[in-house]
Amino acid sequence: MKSLSDLSLSGKRVLVRVDFNVPLEDGRITDDTRVRAALPTIQALLDAGGQPILMSHLGRPKSGPEPQFSLRPVAEHLDTLVEAPVVFCEATVGEAAQACIDEAPDGAVVLLENTRFLEGETKNDPDLARQMAALGDAFVSDAFGSVHRAHASTEGVAHHVADKAAGSLLEREVAFLTRALDEPERPFVAILGGAKVSDKIGVIEALIDKVDQLLIGGAMAYTFLAGLGHKTGNSLVEEDRVDEAYRLYERAGDKLTLPLDHIVADRFAEDAETQIVTGEIPDDWMGLDIGPATREQYANVIENAATVIWNGPMGVFEMDPFAEGTRAVAQAMATASADNEALTVVGGGDSVAAINEAGLAEAVTHVSTGGGAMLEFMEGQTLPGLTALDA
Ligand code: AMP
Repeated sequence: MKSLSDLSLSGKRVLVRVDFNVPLEDGRITDDTRVRAALPTIQALLDAGGQPILMSHLGRPKSGPEPQFSLRPVAEHLDTLVEAPVVFCEATVGEAAQACIDEAPDGAVVLLENTRFLEGETKNDPDLARQMAALGDAFVSDAFGSVHRAHASTEGVAHHVADKAAGSLLEREVAFLTRALDEPERPFVAILGGAKVSDKIGVIEALIDKVDQLLIGGAMAYTFLAGLGHKTGNSLVEEDRVDEAYRLYERAGDKLTLPLDHIVADRFAEDAETQIVTGEIPDDWMGLDIGPATREQYANVIENAATVIWNGPMGVFEMDPFAEGTRAVAQAMATASADNEALTVVGGGDSVAAINEAGLAEAVTHVSTGGGAMLEFMEGQTLPGLTALDA
């Protein structure tokens, strides 16, 4: 994969696929992490005398342009973060986009409208990819969160541009994950949580052979516990995955650790009645977080690790009474980094939100901007947006 430094950028229009898929509420960006994450590449292009022409998707518009998914507010926000002027184009490709780019002042950053306003984007339509490619002299991919998708702006476009490279964010993401997965300092610990085992079976299979310890939390733990014949009460269990979870557990031997105790609730609500239970979960109660003994055990394993990868919350962290387990993992990762100089990598929207909320984003080695992409990378799958950069 080429880097920005491999391209000649001076005087060139550089089409950059960024990931500006930010959360918006009433047209206001509630978390600008992804916009900030793209700044090093944008600045590097400007410093080298290139003109960044940015494109991104935002949300999931159903058919054609929908005003609530316009990237205009992102352009306005970007304008406050970079010194160069930012020009927003209401078109994504074609003559109108070309005219907008031509009219932009020298040294400006251009942001094109949402790629998903065009039907061909998610279908990876070659014609659309060609139209995108026509807007730049070179192509840079910096959208790690989207490289697992073969869309026109993430994959197709790269086939129509000779000069292409990874941006600095993409390079950093790939470098940290590769270091952790291919040459981990040991002990190497992975923590997986979240709602569903079914989303993470491939990752668990791939990680079992690589890690020293795999700590499981979140609702997915209950599918495992059900597979082992434990009582799980009203906890979220994927019935059709129980046998598969059991097989994975058997295969992993003592590498895979499940929660010993749980915070259980009488209903799925912030103000539910709660209690701590060890072992079996009584009928009518549901496990919504790992319990204090598990918290301590997991924190201890993480704090003694040299390499840690985490994806997925340990409980329903959106509700305060069930957030302690997730917070404990975030804190333990920060401690591992500070005390052991451990390589600590966090990914997935929920885990990243939790680490940000705890004010610990700076205390871990790397906060990934990719959720699905990180999981697929960990599974060892080829990511189309990365492969296309080499084609
Ligand atoms: P995922 O998208 O699979 O990473 O799952 C994230 C979601 O799982 C979050 O919204 C959590 O609230 C939810 N979650 C985590 N633990 C539990 C649990 N024990 N019961 C129900 N939902 C959970």
